Amino acid sequence: MDNLDLTTIVSIVAGILYLLIVGAILRRRGFREWTGRFLTLYAVVLCLLELVRGISRLGWLAFLTDAILAQVVPYGTLVLALLFLHMSRSFLRLKGPGWGWWGLGLVWLAALVALENSLLSLPESLLLGSGWLGASRGTTFDVLLLGWAIFVGGAAFSTIITFTRMHQPLHRNRIAYWFLALAFTSAGAVPFFAVPDVRYEPLSSGLYLLGVLSAAYAVLTHRLFDIRQAMRRIMNYLVSTLLAVLLYTASFLVARYLFQTMPGYNPWLIGVALALLLSILFDPLLQLVRRLVSRLFSGAVYSASRTLREYSTSIGNILDLEQLATVAVGLISEAMEVRHGSLFVVHFEEGKGEGESGYFHLRGVRGMGAGEGLIPSTLSAESPVADYLRQERSPLTQYDIDLHPRFREVSSAEREWFTGLNADVYVPIYAKGEWIGFLALGPKRSGDRYFDDELTLLSTLADQTAVALENARLVDDLRARTREIERLNEDLARANLELTRVGQAKSDFIDIASHELRTPLTQVRSYSDILKEMIETDSLSAKGGTKLTQGLKKAAERLEEIINTMVDVAQIDTETLELTLFSESVDSIVKSAVDTWTTALEERNLTLTVEGLESLPSISADYKRLKQMFSHLIQNAIKYTPDGGQIRISGRMLEWTLPQDQSVEIVVADTGIGIAPEDLERIFEKFYRVGDVLLHSTGKTKFKGAGPGLGLTIARGIVEAHGGRIWAESAGHDEKTCPGGEFHIVLPVQPRSSEPENRVVFLTGQ
Ligand code: ADP
Repeated sequence: MDNLDLTTIVSIVAGILYLLIVGAILRRRGFREWTGRFLTLYAVVLCLLELVRGISRLGWLAFLTDAILAQVVPYGTLVLALLFLHMSRSFLRLKGPGWGWWGLGLVWLAALVALENSLLSLPESLLLGSGWLGASRGTTFDVLLLGWAIFVGGAAFSTIITFTRMHQPLHRNRIAYWFLALAFTSAGAVPFFAVPDVRYEPLSSGLYLLGVLSAAYAVLTHRLFDIRQAMRRIMNYLVSTLLAVLLYTASFLVARYLFQTMPGYNPWLIGVALALLLSILFDPLLQLVRRLVSRLFSGAVYSASRTLREYSTSIGNILDLEQLATVAVGLISEAMEVRHGSLFVVHFEEGKGEGESGYFHLRGVRGMGAGEGLIPSTLSAESPVADYLRQERSPLTQYDIDLHPRFREVSSAEREWFTGLNADVYVPIYAKGEWIGFLALGPKRSGDRYFDDELTLLSTLADQTAVALENARLVDDLRARTREIERLNEDLARANLELTRVGQAKSDFIDIASHELRTPLTQVRSYSDILKEMIETDSLSAKGGTKLTQGLKKAAERLEEIINTMVDVAQIDTETLELTLFSESVDSIVKSAVDTWTTALEERNLTLTVEGLESLPSISADYKRLKQMFSHLIQNAIKYTPDGGQIRISGRMLEWTLPQDQSVEIVVADTGIGIAPEDLERIFEKFYRVGDVLLHSTGKTKFKGAGPGLGLTIARGIVEAHGGRIWAESAGHDEKTCPGGEFHIVLPVQPRSSEPENRVVFLTGQ
């Protein structure tokens, strides 16, 4: 065993250590996660490299010739770099398996093999002389170095990018360990590329080992030691030691200078006196230094007991949820310098189905800096997060939700919601053993994590919040209920009013119907009585008979008309009014409607003019129905305009509409008594008539002769069935000044395609 030098021992020991590391990884993580798998593979490759190198040096592996051994390190280094890159991607949870990188790695290895075997007819070899130590820097070496640099660069780039994007201190701390692992493993490869000398081999082995240890620590440990805090402690220690040394030296020199000339000067005595003085001064000085250093590195220095006192006195009497949230989060933020935070109220709802475990409804109350984006959410009672917050009675960090195996089953929707809150820590609040809320606190201004003592303080503060939150929640519920009752009351009042109106309309209808039907019925009865008597007395002449039957016919027609009106209204009500559409001219429809009223217009001495209708395009319309509608509007105009007045019917194209929804507008205007503003809409309602129904005189064209109050309802039904609109305009109602009224009708040139098919029967051509 004369070959047993330091290099060999280090290789063998490192190889054994890697075996132990692999064992630890498999025991802690199994082979479940990709990061763990890559790390295992990485350690196995390193272990093999070290063992092969070490054992072959002992001369035990004779079949491994120098030529083969010389290949092991270069290829191994490249494979390690490629593995580290993939391990980093998986550790940083970058999306996708990185097929591109795998492809590049394979191509690179293939290129190296090709170059090495001079397949690309390059005469030199990767390794000349005695193994890689004597490597000449040829093309092959450069290709190897470039490949290594690309893979390590890729890993470094991914790590840096993820670190800068990540704002949560716990995640950043985790990534910081990855930087360490990356730095150590890269440094481990440097001796091979830069100073190929066998003496540096142990250094390289040690660096790789440190790298793997850092990576294994970061991968296997959930609660990683805080690097910032470690640095702070080291700084504290360094600064205070330095200070003590400086103080001691300076005081010693000063004392010596001052007392040297004094008789009986004894350096020992001076030394002891100074040591005494320093030991008295040192503790307060150390405290001061600690405070200064921690202020320098973190900024937040607060007293837990004072915070607790202030907190409990401030929130005790608050009954308003929002105020409670603002004060609670405000006080915490003041102490710990938190960027934002909010209070969430939790309501549990039992599951309705069999075996359903229920839900927690989470409602955010504005806190500080997180006003918007507090979207309410629901957590299933089986969710691991709900389970933790209900049971554990200790704060939960977002880092835990992201990485701890306990939260692996959290649904993606819940995960997304928590991530969206942008909080670092969730502090649950309990009252009477029930989980009733939580504080979601954002990152600290200092960029520090929430340390354990702070989490304990936060739990205590949350306990203080419980009573106030319970009270505020009750008050809030009460307020919401009062608001609901108020709203219901208003709805009830509205419904009552509507009912009264409908009731009134119904009784009006009965009055009107009996009033309307009675006249023609009386006529029928009278004519038939006269007819009977004349037949009995044998006095019925042909002329008298004709007159009587004409009277009977007229009365029957009126009855039919009233019944038709009611049927129309029923059809409009049930939306079963059927239209038969043809391409029709508005002008001819209106004129034929006017024709029916010529006699009445003459009788009442009214002038009716029709303008601008000839130029309108044909529209697709139900001739009979539109004529019925215009006829009714003209009849109304006649009825509500005093003798000698004017009626004007005009039309125009609506210019601004798109070609596919071109419309025409027709206005029927009169110089009559007009309509009061509050009646402009109501007159279209069923049975609505302005004024007392029984004061109306019945008659088709008499001034103010009323109908059953259904005409405009039918008119609107017809226009709307055509896809159009109808409305009334008037300066007001006045029987003396007669401000007049206008009825506007807008009809589409083409029927709207959205019209229900059962209402429109569209026939093309005439
Ligand atoms: P009616 O069968 O009573 O005429 P309508 O539905 O046609 O019922 O009209 C409802 C009410 O609208 C009428 O009672 C009347 O008061 C008012 N009204 C309708 N047209 C006019 C008009 N041109 N001028 C003034 N008032 C009108």
